[in-house]
Amino acid sequence: MSEPTSRPTAPENAAPSAGEGPDFDKGGGILPAIAQDAQTGEVLMLAFMNAESYAETLATGRAVYFSRSRNRLWRKGEESGNVQLVREVRIDCDGDAILLKVEQVGGAACHTGHRSCFYRRVTKEGLEVVGTPLFDPAQVYGKKSG
Ligand SMILES: [Zn+2]
Repeated sequence: MSEPTSRPTAPENAAPSAGEGPDFDKGGGILPAIAQDAQTGEVLMLAFMNAESYAETLATGRAVYFSRSRNRLWRKGEESGNVQLVREVRIDCDGDAILLKVEQVGGAACHTGHRSCFYRRVTKEGLEVVGTPLFDPAQVYGKKSG
């Protein structure tokens, strides 16, 4: 159980060590990012990040994603004001998924006004809506879609 006198060299397929960031190449430039309530652990949403959005998230302390549909950076809350203050960032074991522990300003992460994007429960009878929206999307986003 004593310390080895010489450090063995890491094998080429070793997991990323501390200090390295996510490996965006594994996802073709984008990786999934989960936003979780920093206090309750509730999963709020799943989005995607590229290296640029990840760097801006770390630099600003606010969640910045990459919108695949708009093909550009998506600064969460840029329209609604419901930004996510990032309290902690974690990277999974093989460096291809990102977890953000956030404080969700406004209480709702979803553009529908629901606290979590996962507000629909799958049942044998179909989808069941869980909880009620915290805001009216039409008032927050106006007539614009998205
Ligand atoms: Zn949503």
